[in-house]
Amino acid sequence: MAEPSRDPPSALSADFMSFSPGDTASRWLACADLQQEVYRHLAEYVPRILCQGGGMAEQREEQREELALQLLLLAPLEWLLLGGEPAAGLALLQQGGGAAALCGHVFKVGEPTYSCRECAADPTCVLCMQCFLASAHRHHRYRMTTSGGGGFCDCGDAEAWKTGPSCQNHTPADQNRESEEDPVSLLPPAVEERSSSIFSIILQYAVDLLTWEQEDQLPAGLEPLTPVAVPTARRAEITSKAFSAFRCPVLRLDVCSVIKALMSYRRLQTDFMEDDHDRLVSLFFFCCPNAVSLCPLPTPDPRPQNYERLQSDFVRDDHDRQFSITDLSVQIFTVPSLARMLMVEENLMMTIIRTFVDQLRHRDAQGRFQFDRYTAQQAFKFGRVQSLIGDLKYVLISPPPQWSQQLRTKFLDGFEAFLDLLRCMQGMDPVVRQVGQHIEMEPEWEAAFTLQMKLTHIITMMQEWCSTDVSRSVASVLQGELSPHLLIELPLRCLVLCAQVHAGMWRRNGFSLINQIYYYHNVKCRVEMFDKDLAMLQVGASMMDPNHFLMIVLSRFELFHTFSASDLRRRYREANKDLAQQNTLIEEMLHLIIMVVGERYVPGVGQVEPLDEVRREILHQLCIRPMAHSELVKALPENGNKETGLERVIDSVASFRKPGVTGRGLYELRPEWSKRFDLYFHHYSRADQSKAEEAQRKLRRQNGEDTALPPPRPPPLCPLFASLANLLQCDALLALEGAVLQWAVEPSGGGWTESMLQRVLHLVAMALLEEQQQLDSSGGDEDVSFTFSSRITRPGEAPSTSGSVLALLESLQNAPHLEVHKDMITWILKVVGNIKTTRERTTGCSVGVSHGRRPEETVRDKDKAERKRKAEMARLRREKVMAQMSEMQKHFINENKELFQQSMEDLEAAAAEHSPPSSEPTCAAQICVGPRRVGGAERRQLVTCILCQEEQEVRGHGRAMVLAAFIQRSTVLSKNRSRGVPDPERLDPLFMHPDLSVGVHTASCGHIMHATCWQRYFEAVQQKEQRRQQRLRGHTSYDVESGEFLCPLCECLSNTVIPLLPHACSPDRSVEHPCLETWLKRTNQQAAALDSTHRKQSHGQSPAGGGAISWRSGVQVAAAAQQAEPAGPDRVGFDPQNSFSSGVAEMINTFGMSAYKVGLKVNPNEQDPRVPVLSWSTCAYTMQSIERLLMDEKKPLFGSLPCRQDECLSSLTRFSSACWTTAPIRTVQNHFIRLLSVLVPDSQLEAPCILDVDMFHLLVYSVLSYSSLHGLDQSGRSSVDSGHLHLLQLVTVAHLVQVLLTFTTGELSMDQDGEESEEERLTCQLYGRLRDHLGRCLPDVSCGWRLWRCVRAGVLPFLRTAALFFHYMNSASPPADLLGTGPGQWEALCSYLSLPSNLLLLYQNHRTLLEPLIHRWCCHPGVGQVLHGGGVLVQFPRESNRLIDLPEDYSILINQASSFTCPRSGGDKSRAPTLCLVCGCMLCSQSYCCQTEVEGEDVGACTAHTFTCGAGIGLFLRVRESQVLFVAGKTKGCFYPPPYLDDYGETDPGLKRGNPLHLCSERYQKIERLWRQHGIAEVIGHAQEANQTLVAIDWQHL
Ligand SMILES: [Zn+2]
Ligand SMILES: [Zn+2]
Ligand SMILES: [Zn+2]
Ligand SMILES: [Zn+2]
Ligand SMILES: [Zn+2]
Ligand SMILES: [Zn+2]
Ligand SMILES: [Zn+2]
Repeated sequence: MAEPSRDPPSALSADFMSFSPGDTASRWLACADLQQEVYRHLAEYVPRILCQGGGMAEQREEQREELALQLLLLAPLEWLLLGGEPAAGLALLQQGGGAAALCGHVFKVGEPTYSCRECAADPTCVLCMQCFLASAHRHHRYRMTTSGGGGFCDCGDAEAWKTGPSCQNHTPADQNRESEEDPVSLLPPAVEERSSSIFSIILQYAVDLLTWEQEDQLPAGLEPLTPVAVPTARRAEITSKAFSAFRCPVLRLDVCSVIKALMSYRRLQTDFMEDDHDRLVSLFFFCCPNAVSLCPLPTPDPRPQNYERLQSDFVRDDHDRQFSITDLSVQIFTVPSLARMLMVEENLMMTIIRTFVDQLRHRDAQGRFQFDRYTAQQAFKFGRVQSLIGDLKYVLISPPPQWSQQLRTKFLDGFEAFLDLLRCMQGMDPVVRQVGQHIEMEPEWEAAFTLQMKLTHIITMMQEWCSTDVSRSVASVLQGELSPHLLIELPLRCLVLCAQVHAGMWRRNGFSLINQIYYYHNVKCRVEMFDKDLAMLQVGASMMDPNHFLMIVLSRFELFHTFSASDLRRRYREANKDLAQQNTLIEEMLHLIIMVVGERYVPGVGQVEPLDEVRREILHQLCIRPMAHSELVKALPENGNKETGLERVIDSVASFRKPGVTGRGLYELRPEWSKRFDLYFHHYSRADQSKAEEAQRKLRRQNGEDTALPPPRPPPLCPLFASLANLLQCDALLALEGAVLQWAVEPSGGGWTESMLQRVLHLVAMALLEEQQQLDSSGGDEDVSFTFSSRITRPGEAPSTSGSVLALLESLQNAPHLEVHKDMITWILKVVGNIKTTRERTTGCSVGVSHGRRPEETVRDKDKAERKRKAEMARLRREKVMAQMSEMQKHFINENKELFQQSMEDLEAAAAEHSPPSSEPTCAAQICVGPRRVGGAERRQLVTCILCQEEQEVRGHGRAMVLAAFIQRSTVLSKNRSRGVPDPERLDPLFMHPDLSVGVHTASCGHIMHATCWQRYFEAVQQKEQRRQQRLRGHTSYDVESGEFLCPLCECLSNTVIPLLPHACSPDRSVEHPCLETWLKRTNQQAAALDSTHRKQSHGQSPAGGGAISWRSGVQVAAAAQQAEPAGPDRVGFDPQNSFSSGVAEMINTFGMSAYKVGLKVNPNEQDPRVPVLSWSTCAYTMQSIERLLMDEKKPLFGSLPCRQDECLSSLTRFSSACWTTAPIRTVQNHFIRLLSVLVPDSQLEAPCILDVDMFHLLVYSVLSYSSLHGLDQSGRSSVDSGHLHLLQLVTVAHLVQVLLTFTTGELSMDQDGEESEEERLTCQLYGRLRDHLGRCLPDVSCGWRLWRCVRAGVLPFLRTAALFFHYMNSASPPADLLGTGPGQWEALCSYLSLPSNLLLLYQNHRTLLEPLIHRWCCHPGVGQVLHGGGVLVQFPRESNRLIDLPEDYSILINQASSFTCPRSGGDKSRAPTLCLVCGCMLCSQSYCCQTEVEGEDVGACTAHTFTCGAGIGLFLRVRESQVLFVAGKTKGCFYPPPYLDDYGETDPGLKRGNPLHLCSERYQKIERLWRQHGIAEVIGHAQEANQTLVAIDWQHL
């Protein structure tokens, strides 16, 4: 009863609930007819499970199907097979069966697979990672790929591996036992019996269903109880699915010895032959190790009619191949013993070929394939048909070790079928030259080429098979007489066609023909196309009279009359053909003759070894230029195993040059091999040829040699082809040569070309080499039949009345218009002379050569003299060029003075590292802070605007000068990436947490402009951008809307400018310097007074303002203050705004706004009191970041920064110290009050505890905001400088306490012996005080040495950054010790900062003041909270962040990625697993499942991650692609070369080559440095600028 409205899920769910697999299995076990029972079960459930759905929720439907299959179909079978609960039964079996001999691991998508290039039987044989690592192949040459899912590890399969079939884990413990005992006997008999019956039933079911013909009913026993119409189209899918579901865990698991036992080959070989076919089908499975885990999937029934049926079903079907049963063929046909058996038993080879031929129905009248009328749908089918060729390839993959008579017969049947196939291809898709009109439509040509390409390896394999046994029988298949004429006809036509196309005679035939000719020569096709045609011509020519052959060639090129006329020139002109076309044809014909005689590197044609051919290919590639391994591989044809043979010969011809940190490894030709260079190498394209010619001539000139490029000595021909050489000296060729040389006597008027002449010279040279070689090998016998040197002395015959070839050559030698060829002609004449001498010496008499009277010696001497002269000339020329260049350089420097000045400064900065600047007296104490500081204010600063080139002095009241800069948020220093993104509106940036989770970094390229010049420039950029956007809606590499631009000089990405400000004034030494106590008291009073004034003023506006001043109320205070008193002089009579001109003030404002906007990610708002804080913040953060870099790179603190960074820090610091002047003074005062409350806790103000504040930030902020108090000091007796020093001292003490509070005893080390130093004693004392306050929160440490060491290390980065800060703020020269990295750094640092080198004295000397403060610090509730684990505890010194550690072997990463599942879609595999290099998080990138919304836009997992992990900047490794990805924000990104290289020094993007990859730590360090220097955004900018296609990528979806 079918209820249409009934919901299918609930129907199935009901079955889930009530079904018991165990009960079903016992029922089956008890019944009489197992097959009937199982069939009934299948008949009921298969249609119910698989014929539902297809509705809206297809995705969910599929999942339910899987579940139902597992429970309703597989589970009972498992129970039955194992006779009980499957898991338990399996364990039992494994105990009894011993170690598994086969791995059979099923690959997940993306899992690494390994194939040994030396031992695998074919490229489909692979190992899983575990097996590979335990196998012998890890030391061989191997290939690594990622699996597409499915497929099995072939470990343990003896047929898959030539050697080392098993890894250590799968090696049978006792090999003898394995080979002698039937593994089946290891199985409990009951299991064996049950499995063989259940497997045969299932297979029968498969065969029944797959071969069922009737559409309206089902096989007997399978009629469904509930009538469900099975759509025929889905039948194959249903079956396939039903059975792919049988990949139950039982069968898959390592494959339990059950199946393995059943699968012994021997069993196959004995049982197989005798049993009936159904048994055969079942056994078929058992014997196939690859199919083990698929078992019992139905087989593509080997019976011919069934194979055909399945395949045609597949071709008609529109499902992917992976759903089709035919996909199994790789598992079956690649087992050689099986394939051979199927060939013998079932004539498999013929079946496949016939099926294939039948599928291609379109034929022309001659029965040839016709692809030109293919529709898109047919083309699709054609694609499917091609998989048949794949099957054929599997079958042929390894030739049989021995032949049986049956195999021989069946192979010949298949071979004949194959010849039929080739017959249908011969002449398919012919082209006809279009004259008059252009073709109307580009004809389809790809299908035919694809077919040919696919068959390439098949043909090779056929040849291999033939060569092992049946070549004679094959000959009988090829019946009929083969005349040489017939043999050369078609190849010659083809080559003439190419020549004519080159000559431009087929222009009207469109691009399809051009493409075809390109592929004809291309490395992918040429083996079976161009190379074979050439070989065929050689075969034909060797069987013919050379003159006859040349006549045929001439006539096919339609050049016969050009050369046969009595008056060559006249007839030539009268030929009335396009001269250029004629010339090209002659060139092409001469080239063809060169190739027919000269190409001898095919074994059998010339006396060469197979590898000589590869070596020659490589050599000629390297003659063009040094090349990377991958380039060479691309230039070589691959065999069926994807091997080129490159590795076996490369080292003999080339030397490897390692790559640096960029670039790739290159192979360079060894010099001795360049003598083998052949200009007319047949695989050179025209472009290759001219590049190689140029490179080789250059090389020879450099070596002081002549530039002749004569042919290399060719290998001798094999006897069968020996007559080819006679082509070189036949009359017809001599006549051709004579004719061309005759033309060349006169300067070309279009009647001849230099390439023509060059080819003729080459041919002459080849002939001479041949003669010399024959003379040499015959020991100078006079009966050498090759007598070219004497033939060329004969004067021209009948039509041409000119002189002999030799005479012509001699007269051409000094022709002024042939200067280029002079060396070559000289070379030829020299060899002629040599040959003559050889002949004379051996025979003692003249051979009748009238020329060459000069003895050999003279020739050689003259040659030497000539070479010397040339070398001298070359030297002179070089000198002249050098002189010219240095002149030009001088000129250039003059013209680009500023540029060079910059780089000179860079150099000086670098030099400063080694020699302290002499201008500063090193004896005087250098102090950078406090009243005793030495300032550099008297120095005038002159800078030049890069835009208008005007020089300008930096002054507060002068024209504003700015520095191009890039400001960005950064998490590079973060010690806590889990901190959430704060709400920008509520964020209070005044207190930086010591975890430094997000900071604002500023960098600059150091290029200076007038503010006005920059503004004009930026406006122009904006306008250009607007125009461009109207034209095309693309992006640029920079975002003008958010203020980005490229530095006009260096194109560095920038988004703001930093104003240049004058140096700080020198300290006023006349004023009094109060001690710490006095100063603090006074400052506290000032703060309190101000605070209460502010409170009173804001009281009206702020009803909640009763309590402490938090940031919120701070805003209100400031706003209130501003409303109350807008602009104008302050009440206390201090007007900081007077110190700057309006232009400078405007620029201060501009940069301040940028820092605010970028730092908080908010819209500009000049009223926000947080504006100055962000300016201070970027100054502090940038300094901290640079200090870390200097520290980790072990560079001195001062003098080692490049000029641009120095410039940047200097202007940034001076800007920060001035920026408060543009903010309302009350805002700044308010900030100071709050900052001070950290150091001097005050019950009125809510301040964070000292463990929650980064002390360097606190120092910078309080020093910079302190100036706002300065004006209040009406007494005039205090200086800002003493305030700065006291602030530094206070913050330093606070930092000491901070370091001690976070001290851990984790590190155990030897206690120091001997006297306790003063520092140690005081540290102990201070620590003791802290313990008094905090009790057991702090560990008990009594060792002062350890405490002091920890404090010293913890406080050092703070002191270094503080030194940098005051150095730039006060322009104070650093002491010499800090310009190096030698000893005494600590002392120098302390003295530069005006601090005692025993820092603890700060505490000791002001105990009465500090003790209460320390008490209050410790009693802050926050401290206890953090120490009890209630917050982030940061320890000092903060360790520098690094990118994550990567494994040395890339496959470990691939393996990690393959087990990574999408975190969102419940265990699905991720398509693009991507590793964050900053935090090591694996992400599911480029996929809808993991898209999230960030700021109102859907973004991919990577982009989303960058917002939390990298504040918008991200570095990732795309594991499957082996690619590094940089992203910045949502719209910008680029790919960067990964730090993994193969042995050839190359990366492998997309893992296409599959060479093993290893970590190159230098490259990884380079990436790390980029990140730590905040250079990622700039790299992206440059990459996008260089490659516009990057701009169009939707980076946010990654
Ligand atoms: Zn394995
Ligand atoms: Zn193994
Ligand atoms: Zn191997
Ligand atoms: Zn300017
Ligand atoms: Zn620049
Ligand atoms: Zn996902
Ligand atoms: Zn991350």
